[in-house]
Amino acid sequence: INYQRFDFVPLVKEVMEILEDKALTNKTKLIFKDKYTAPTMVYADREKIRQVMMNLIQNSIKYGRENGSTSIKTFELHDQYLIEVTDDGMGIEEKHLPRLFERFYRIDSHRSRKEGGTGLGLAIVKHILEAHQQTISVRSTPNIGTTFAFTLQKNNEPLLNYGKK
Ligand code: ATP
Ligand code: MG
Repeated sequence: INYQRFDFVPLVKEVMEILEDKALTNKTKLIFKDKYTAPTMVYADREKIRQVMMNLIQNSIKYGRENGSTSIKTFELHDQYLIEVTDDGMGIEEKHLPRLFERFYRIDSHRSRKEGGTGLGLAIVKHILEAHQQTISVRSTPNIGTTFAFTLQKNNEPLLNYGKK
């Protein structure tokens, strides 16, 4: 892992721009709710986290509904940020949730929709986050939508002038 200190906000905007056309074609809106937390300095492998965001947002577009939306939110925790990617699409039945991050696992009822896939996207996401010692979780309601939430290590400026003068 090539750890760097970087602002997460421009990374999200970069990924949203790359996926803009795909979202438009699928009539899905991408929304970034970043107004409370910018700048969001994290310590991670930028390229790999970019892949995580690509895979999650691609899924939300692919399994989202027409005229739906995907929102990306960041929350500040103690020494981490929590990133959430939420769609209002077809959702996932509870029985599938435990196996979702396995390689090649795909839900049959989703296969007919739009373009296919290999079932590797989420396995890669999980692998990358585990290599960073970070976690990912999912919550979903069929026909309502899905949220993937993962953590990133914060890396704030060290406190200057700390201690006695
Ligand atoms: P790939 O990402 O390799 O192109 P994929 O999208 O099928 O293929 P994953 O990203 O690993 O594979 O996702 C696994 C399965 O989980 C999907 O096939 C789909 O059934 C389900 N899934 C993933 N994200 C969502 C989502 N946002 N909403 C509903 N179902 C989802
Ligand atoms: Mg995928």
